[in-house]
Amino acid sequence: MDERLQNLLSKMDMEDAKVIRLLLDNLSSSSLKGLNQGEAENRLEAIRARIKQIEAKALRKLKERESNPVCNFCSLKSSEVKHMLKSDKNLFICNNCIEACYEQLQKLQ
Ligand SMILES: [Zn+2]
Repeated sequence: MDERLQNLLSKMDMEDAKVIRLLLDNLSSSSLKGLNQGEAENRLEAIRARIKQIEAKALRKLKERESNPVCNFCSLKSSEVKHMLKSDKNLFICNNCIEACYEQLQKLQ
């Protein structure tokens, strides 16, 4: 498997990554046995097209996630809140969650 795909798989949603792995298994497994040359080529072509599709979708999702990060605590997107802070551990937290934490802390005092 090439490095680019490997790298992408590691960042993809579990579901997408699972489908790609299944398709790749299909490419190299016995699913092509018993097919004549033309049928095998068609099958391979279909599998490659499907992989490309999923790969493109995953890349789009990754890009969107980078430009519009999601709060790790409440799952709101950056575009839906006033502020989004990023921690040094690459966690995102929105102003709503910060305010909620602050209120909790005040109650404790
Ligand atoms: Zn939040």
